[in-house]
Amino acid sequence: DKGYRSLIMGADTKVPIENGRFVTAINFDNAATTPPFVSVINEVNKFAPWYSSVHRGSGYKSRLSSDLFESARLRVLNFVNADPEKYTAIFVKNTTEALNKLSYCFYNNHKDCVILSSYMEHHSNDLPWRDKFKVEYIDITEEGRLQVSDLEKRLIKHKGKVKLVTITGASNVTGYKNPIHEIAALSHKYGAQICVDGAQLIPHSSIDMMPHTPLENIDFLAFSAHKMYAPFGTGVLIGPKDMFERGDPDYKGGGTVKIVTKDFVIWDEAPYREEAGSPNIIGVVALLAAINTLEAVSMENIESYEQELTGYAAEKIRHIPDITVYGDSYSKDDKVGIISFNIKGLHHEIVAEALSREVGIAVRNGCFCAQPYIQKILNLTSGDIKNIIDNAYFPRPGMVRISFGLYNSFEEIDKAINALQWITAHRYRYTEKYASFRRSR
Ligand code: PMP
Repeated sequence: DKGYRSLIMGADTKVPIENGRFVTAINFDNAATTPPFVSVINEVNKFAPWYSSVHRGSGYKSRLSSDLFESARLRVLNFVNADPEKYTAIFVKNTTEALNKLSYCFYNNHKDCVILSSYMEHHSNDLPWRDKFKVEYIDITEEGRLQVSDLEKRLIKHKGKVKLVTITGASNVTGYKNPIHEIAALSHKYGAQICVDGAQLIPHSSIDMMPHTPLENIDFLAFSAHKMYAPFGTGVLIGPKDMFERGDPDYKGGGTVKIVTKDFVIWDEAPYREEAGSPNIIGVVALLAAINTLEAVSMENIESYEQELTGYAAEKIRHIPDITVYGDSYSKDDKVGIISFNIKGLHHEIVAEALSREVGIAVRNGCFCAQPYIQKILNLTSGDIKNIIDNAYFPRPGMVRISFGLYNSFEEIDKAINALQWITAHRYRYTEKYASFRRSR
């Protein structure tokens, strides 16, 4: 594991399994949430006696918290190479809140336009756009990759009407990375901006919002701290400052105004007008520590180590008879460490349950909040979907997902492969065993 394991708090925690024994937990559910860096918890503990209200007090501790909050903003911009003269970073709760906020702000800027999203989006980068805009979905190939040619077709079809292309940086189902700078150049060529849902990309790859030419710039970026080794409760929305200064903010309240009288309101400038209520300085301190540690390891090192892990796991898993790996399981270079699969004849819920209860391996199963993508990959018909709605087709279709972080090891993969081989070979034992299905999301 190249020593990265020691960066993680609780990497070797023991958990109970079915037979009453305790085993060292294996966490292959990093795409949902990562465990914290030790440095993150240390920084939070160090700062705990000092935290106080941000932008709201004259006491020493308030001034300290306010200064730290503002310097964190610059550090976050610097982490993704966004010029602070042009861009601002707004602290929010998570990626979902960031994308909802952006849809509100975007509506203030462009009322009657077309938004291009894609079939491979997480619901968080799909649903917030639907109620305000005409949304079209860029198609995917048979292997589940984004069809860039379909993007261009739609940009031409709606010439001048598409104002935003909103796309995931990496899929939380197949792990595919999208060519975000190529998409940016195409979008800009046809007069649209680009938003990247960075939730799955940010812990695995460096992100450069201003790479070579302005045509390739990323206009908006959203991500969550809890997927990059800091705790829940902090997310970031980055975008051009002026895009957040039209109309009213989505959340209104303390900290958002220049002046309020009984009769009128003058909203403050961005980012302040977009951060209603007392900000989460502890969460921002945690995010800052996570960024510092990621950079100390270097995103290039993380990317190459995780590619090795993914290639190793993909090669082994696709050789297990009766396991179907979704997407193109051969490539590893344009993917983050995510592998989704099913065992023939066993429901995904049972496989996930068996891995957890019998071997202490945590994975995720279901539709991963990306139902349209799963429906396409599994070739579900409208009849299948009607059956799901009517509940006659229960349990629901879905997949098992394993996802890696920088601290996972080849030995852990070997254990998971052994477990999957055993489960596959003894399928008949499991069909009855774990029938208590959770709600598959
Ligand atoms: N987008 C993608 C691609 C994701 O994987 C996730 C989390 N599963 C989200 C958005 C939403 O992130 P959050 O739950 O932190 O808002």
